[in-house]
Amino acid sequence: MELNRRDFIRRCLLSGGVLTVFPPALHPGRGAPAREPWRPAYAKLEEQGAFAPRVEEAWEILRECRLCPRQCGVNRLAGKTGFCRGGKEVKVYNAGPHFGEEIPLSGTRGSGTIFFSDCNLRCVFCQNWPISMEGQGQRLSAEELASMMLWLQRLGCHNINLVTPTHVMPFILQATRIALRRGLNLPLVYNTSGYELPEVVRLLDGIVDIYLPDVKYTDGALAARYSSGARDYPERAKASVLEMHRQVGGLVEDEQGIALRGLMIRHLVMPNRVAGTKAFVEWVAQHLPKDTYVNIMAQYRVEYQAFDYPPIARAITPEEFLEAMTWATEAGLTHLDSRSVAQWQIYLRRRSGS
Ligand code: SF4
Repeated sequence: MELNRRDFIRRCLLSGGVLTVFPPALHPGRGAPAREPWRPAYAKLEEQGAFAPRVEEAWEILRECRLCPRQCGVNRLAGKTGFCRGGKEVKVYNAGPHFGEEIPLSGTRGSGTIFFSDCNLRCVFCQNWPISMEGQGQRLSAEELASMMLWLQRLGCHNINLVTPTHVMPFILQATRIALRRGLNLPLVYNTSGYELPEVVRLLDGIVDIYLPDVKYTDGALAARYSSGARDYPERAKASVLEMHRQVGGLVEDEQGIALRGLMIRHLVMPNRVAGTKAFVEWVAQHLPKDTYVNIMAQYRVEYQAFDYPPIARAITPEEFLEAMTWATEAGLTHLDSRSVAQWQIYLRRRSGS
């Protein structure tokens, strides 16, 4: 059954979510550019008859869950839960047009964001901890998730932005295929913590158009300390990012600057160089094209259990952000997020007193 807008808002409110709807989005489709001839990757895969087998293959992984590097091996189809606490159903906290994402994603009508409950990484500084740690949200059927995607499309959103998708990937594929048959024609944004298995990311080839992975750490010991023992995070994230780039290449935008396809990497600068920013930007420069889109983010804040960890129990300083951006440019990266660059310039002007 397709949810109408009123039902969806009610559902979001019941689940404790905050539905963010901005005025331009209240007029479905207003000002929407003609989308043809551009088509999402999954539409082409469906035409080739290859989408359904891919959904089945992904679904099979849940029998002995190895969707992510935790490789719990539990039978989620039988209702067992693993480290992420995901079971045999998908849970969503809220959804709506999001205007705070990177400009090529938010554009003028918002990124159609769906926040999935639970998480396979579980960082002590998580900013979304009520969703990721406490699992707040509401169970949805694949049909309802498909309706949510179509609702976001009707609002005029530029894409379907899947936040924390890793542990529910098979459900997303199933819902996308249903939504496709009902007219979905937007790129999927795979907005992941980066704690992925490359062989699982390979299943998304020809389905996801835009990858938006974090690279959170370059030091395994720090990853283990702050992200629930994920010592292998740096290798897993790097290998997965390379696979993502192999599939979709660099960022491609339409004539309005809206992202259609490609890789966009996020890196959150942390206090006391915990994120390993210098090693991260040097790795990107060595292993990916120098014009890879990279967002060096300054918005770290102390959340959840981070108060208990002195090295990360404070915000970053302007100097820490300045050194991060300097390392990125010294490494030769040429496509840094425009808002980060603007922030950098503000700090530089402030420092020079001009
Ligand atoms: S997705 Fe969840 S259950 Fe599956 S391997 Fe990862 S943490 Fe374990």
